[in-house]
Amino acid sequence: MIKVLTIVGARPQFIKAAAVSRAFAEAEGMTEVMVHTGQHFDPGMSDVFFRELGIPQPAHHLGVHGGGHGQMTGRMLEGLEAVMLAERPDWVLVYGDTNSTIAGALAAAKLLIPVAHVEAGLRSFNRAMPEEVNRVLTDHVSRLLFCPTTAAVANLAREGITGGVHHVGDVMYDATLDAVRRAGTESRILADLGLEPGGFALATIHRAENTDTAAHLAEVLEYLRGRAAERPVVLPLHPRTRQAAERFGLGFDGLRTIAPVGYLDMAALLGGCAEVLTDSGGVQKEAYFHRKPCTTLRSETEWVETVDAGWNRLWKGPDYAPRRTITEYGDGRAAQAILGLIRDAA
Ligand code: UDP
Repeated sequence: MIKVLTIVGARPQFIKAAAVSRAFAEAEGMTEVMVHTGQHFDPGMSDVFFRELGIPQPAHHLGVHGGGHGQMTGRMLEGLEAVMLAERPDWVLVYGDTNSTIAGALAAAKLLIPVAHVEAGLRSFNRAMPEEVNRVLTDHVSRLLFCPTTAAVANLAREGITGGVHHVGDVMYDATLDAVRRAGTESRILADLGLEPGGFALATIHRAENTDTAAHLAEVLEYLRGRAAERPVVLPLHPRTRQAAERFGLGFDGLRTIAPVGYLDMAALLGGCAEVLTDSGGVQKEAYFHRKPCTTLRSETEWVETVDAGWNRLWKGPDYAPRRTITEYGDGRAAQAILGLIRDAA
């Protein structure tokens, strides 16, 4: 039996891990032990995903959140090392680019437990982003690197990483297909909010670069207000953004703010909106999965193929390129490919 310790802690990781956990449930000879670091902890940012997406309850919950990056990551490292010593897994599986990712990867690497990284090779080439530091370091200690795109494979090659690199497609596409199948019958959010399909824009903001100063947040809110002149802008409010606005004394007038929503409601909002305005990595791609045009509220993106294929543009960049289909996100079976490769490497 191959024992895999999965480390999650933040919202996008619950969604990606949900797709892989479903594949674990069907995989013979493999068992998954889930660890929640606690990075995202409130019910709307964590519990709803475990409940709705049927993610196994974490066997270990570290309850680490808040504090500076060093403090948070340090406490996670300490907690994860103890869990790894107790569980003695064959592999540690980490997702994406958060402090939970780097803490899991580093704790495992020091214990000589091989690390598998889902969403390896993404780069913004902006080292001021905390996520970029987490990605680069995680990739450099990983034994298996599961890339969602060909650009990610090329980024790793440029850094000298070629062994253990596999282009498997995007597990978030797997997750989207499942959510779309269910959202039609299980989500009532459009009716509850009185939204007409095609009659609103969907926005999300949470990146540090947009929430770290009053000037940056004011600029992005002003931009969204300008867009709201065309059609209502629905903004599920990330706790970091709500707290930043309170701290800076900024309001959300002119925008339709709602509490963060679960993944099925998010799928319904993505399916029903006319366009997407976001600084989220995941939401940029989901806009494409739902075939909605996206404006990215950042000065660069890791998901370069969405821009090249005309579905995404940077808010201060050129207009959309001519549209075409993107094939490299796979066929919705990235999770199965990942487990097959872990099994082959074990
Ligand atoms: N999401 C959600 N509810 C919300 C906002 C986002 O379920 O209210 C989902 C979204 O569909 C995507 C993921 O959360 O799958 C993105 O997470 P986030 O934007 O926090 O992180 P990033 O992708 O930028 O790392």
